[in-house]
Order: sequence, then C-alpha cells, then structure tokens
Amino acid sequence: MHMQNLMDGLTALAKRRGFIFQGSEIYGGFAGFWDYGPLGVELKNNIKKEWWKSIVYSREDVVGLDAAIIMNPIVWEKSGHLKAFTDPLVECKHCHKRYRADQFKEASDELEKKLTGHRVSGGSSSKNLAEILVCDVAGTHTWKDVTQPKTFNLLTEVYLGTTEPKQKAYLRGEITQGVFVNFKNVVDSTRVKIPFGIAQIGKAFRNEITAGNFTFRSREFEQMELEYFVKPDAKQADRLFEMWKKTRLDWYMSLGMQKVNLRFRQHEDKERAHYAVNAEDIEYKAPFGWSEFEGIHNRTDYDLKSHGLSYKDEDGSEYFPWVIETSGGVDRTALFFLIDAYIEDGKRTVLKLHPRLAPYKAAVFPLLSNKPELVSKAREIYATLCSRFYCAWDDRGNIGKRYFAQDEIGTPWCVTVDFDTLKDNTVTVRDRDTTKQERQPIDSLLPLFLERLNA
Ligand code: ATP
Repeated sequence: MHMQNLMDGLTALAKRRGFIFQGSEIYGGFAGFWDYGPLGVELKNNIKKEWWKSIVYSREDVVGLDAAIIMNPIVWEKSGHLKAFTDPLVECKHCHKRYRADQFKEASDELEKKLTGHRVSGGSSSKNLAEILVCDVAGTHTWKDVTQPKTFNLLTEVYLGTTEPKQKAYLRGEITQGVFVNFKNVVDSTRVKIPFGIAQIGKAFRNEITAGNFTFRSREFEQMELEYFVKPDAKQADRLFEMWKKTRLDWYMSLGMQKVNLRFRQHEDKERAHYAVNAEDIEYKAPFGWSEFEGIHNRTDYDLKSHGLSYKDEDGSEYFPWVIETSGGVDRTALFFLIDAYIEDGKRTVLKLHPRLAPYKAAVFPLLSNKPELVSKAREIYATLCSRFYCAWDDRGNIGKRYFAQDEIGTPWCVTVDFDTLKDNTVTVRDRDTTKQERQPIDSLLPLFLERLNA
C-alpha cells in the first residue's frame, strides 16, 4: 500500500472508530495535543500493562514507581536540563515560522536532491517536507531565508502559588528524573540490591518546535522507562546494555510487531548526550521514514552523581552506580502497533493487533436482535466473558457487517449465537485473521480464549 494512503487510512480509522481524536477539536484543535477515545485508551492501557508485566512482574530485580510530574526546580538545574534540554531553532526572516534546524536541513537537502534529479529516499514524508518548505511570503524557504540556529529550551514552564511573583516550576520533560531523586528512598524502603531497576510509566511534556506526523511528535506524551542501576564497571555495563537491547526488541516482536519493520540505530558521537557512553535507538519503518520510538542508553554515573546519591554495597564499598536506561514512548508505540497491524484486504479493513493489545478480546452477537431467546443466551455468554476481559456487544445490522466492524477495530474473535445454540449449546466462533468459522461448545469459550490470550 502507498505509504501516504496507509497514513491517511489509519488516521481516518483512528478518528472514525474512537482511537485517537485531535485535542480540543471543537475549538479548532491545539497543535501537538491528542485525546485517546474509548478504544485508544484500551490499546494504550494494554501496552502499558504488557510492559509492566514484562519489566516489573516477571523480574525479581525491578520495582515500580510513580513520581510527581512537577518537581522542585532544583531537580532540573542539577540534572542539566535547564542548560542542555534544547533543540536548535531557526526562524524564517519573512514569514517568521519556526523550525528545528535539523528538520529544516533535512527538508532543504531533499529539495536540493529533487532539483538536481536525485532520488529521494527515507527521511520524512514528502507531505511534511512540503509543509516545512512553504514560506507564506517568499514562496519557498531556503537556508538564506532563515536565521542562524539558536538554542531553544523544551521544558514547559508552569507558575504556582498565590503570592506574586508566583513560583516558577516545570512540567517534567522526561520521567527519568523522578526515578533518580527517589533512588535513596527506594533503596531504603525495599530489599533491592545492585544490579536492580526502577520502572515508571507517566506523562512528559516538551515544548517541541514542530509537532507532527500524527501523534509521533506531540507536546504531551507518555513514556515507559526503566532505569537499571549497575556497578561502575564498563564491561558489566556493556553486557547489560546488550541484554536490555535484546529484551526490549524481543518484547515488541512477542506482541506481533514485524521484524522487517524494526532495527537498531546507534547514535553517532555528536548526537549522544555528553555523559552517555553508548546509545542506540529502536526504530520503526514508519510511512514517514525510519523513526525512533525507544532509546537504550548507558548514562554512566552522571545522574546519581549530579544529585549526590551514592550507594553502599554489601561489601562495604561506596560508589555512584551507572545507569542503563530503556526509554520508550507509549504514544509512538501505540502508533507503530497500529500502523503495523493495519491492512486493507479487499472489502475489509483489518487491524491485526495481537489479542493482548486488542481493545476488545471478543465480540458477542445474537444472530437476530428480535428473537428474545437468542438475545438472552447471547447476554449470558457476554456476561461470562466480560468477567475476565473486555468484550463488545453488537446486535445491529447483519452478521457480515458486524464482522467487518470488529475487524476494523482489531477484535480477534466474534461469537455468534444462532438457533442451533438453543439445541446443542454450541456457538460459531469466527477468527479475525483467517475469517474461518468453527463451532465451539459454550463452556469451552472462556478457557479457549484465555489459552489463546496467554499463548
Ligand atoms: P526525538 O529525537 O524524536 O526528539 P528523543 O531522542 O528526544 O526523541 P528521548 O528523549 O530519548 O527522545 O525520549 C524517549 C522516548 O520518548 C522516545 O523514544 C519517544 O518514544 C518518546 N518521545 C520523546 N519525545 C516525544 C514526543 N515529542 N512525542 C511523543 N513521544 C516522544
């Protein structure tokens, strides 16, 4: 499928079926903010649940945390964010639109390649490039039209208190610092011993110069991060870095993301934060080019040292632990799972989401809505299944239309109650991916679905 068509099809589906809405839509929207609808919130919650299960519940060496979004501003001074959490900004001298210098450079390089007849490959989608290059006054932007890059801090300021001047604070630009400032609290209140990790999921805010590519670059988003504390030993840190890289890539694939659409990209020296000795991104082959959605970083002892937090080992030694971080974005992950699962297959559109990620695990239908005996049997089955997972109910239109409606939102199994059910207590179970239908005894439904969900 053409990439732009895929993106258009998916964004239309996301709105039509209640996955993702533009933030503040009734007032014309608000750039960089998105709302998740009834199905979107389920998808996002399922991603977070699966992540937490794999990172916290299935390991003895990781505990969870939920730190405040707004912290004492000293945190951001010590962490270096007040100085260094910046992007280079350029501004058009004619129309005053502002861009991130690297994105502007990418767009103007692509334009030059086009003009000199070179093939354009990878990178941003042509739609985005076109948006960047349009100058409202001069027609087309070039490097001559924009100012020298200047640093632009991405932290969002907030003002608190009742007396003037109000106290300035910041919405967190990354959730990471909440973990570091609680390092001692966690060590003192639990039985963790190095190596161990602290996991957290939560909102972060960045005043991005240009938001775009649907939810990919937003100004409010959610992160899921693990900070894994290790001895200050470069060899051991390297080994654990590799272990986490593999663990995280395997996790995406275990939930159905296609291997051909995934790759690692190591940061070049100039891209890496000055304190990091190694950084690799997990990238997805999005319609707008290979794009980062998780970073694995070896942050050395920079963070705990900045906050003056050391660790007393059992052997009596005291040191600043190193940190291996896995930092993923919930919104980008949700977007890429949706893109990966989106298929237009003849008459039907299907979201082939992994059953554990699908908003509804099953849908239950009475064959006819005006036959009370079918409806009440179907209601019984619906209530039983709902006791274990989220299910849909539908008794409108014909069965074919109901199947298609469930395919489009990724429901893996549809259960239909018909007249045979009343005789032999069996139902038709229809599979989303194969469209095959099989008869199953009502009693076997719950164990069958639970087994498939846990497979
Ligand atoms: P980028 O280079 O795309 O700006 P980054 O390298 O600054 O991303 P990190 O600071 O490593 O990103 O953040 C970790 C993760 O948080 C990213 O991999 C991404 O999934 C998510 N994330 C970061 N910024 C945004 C954003 N503006 N919108 C949505 N998700 C984001």
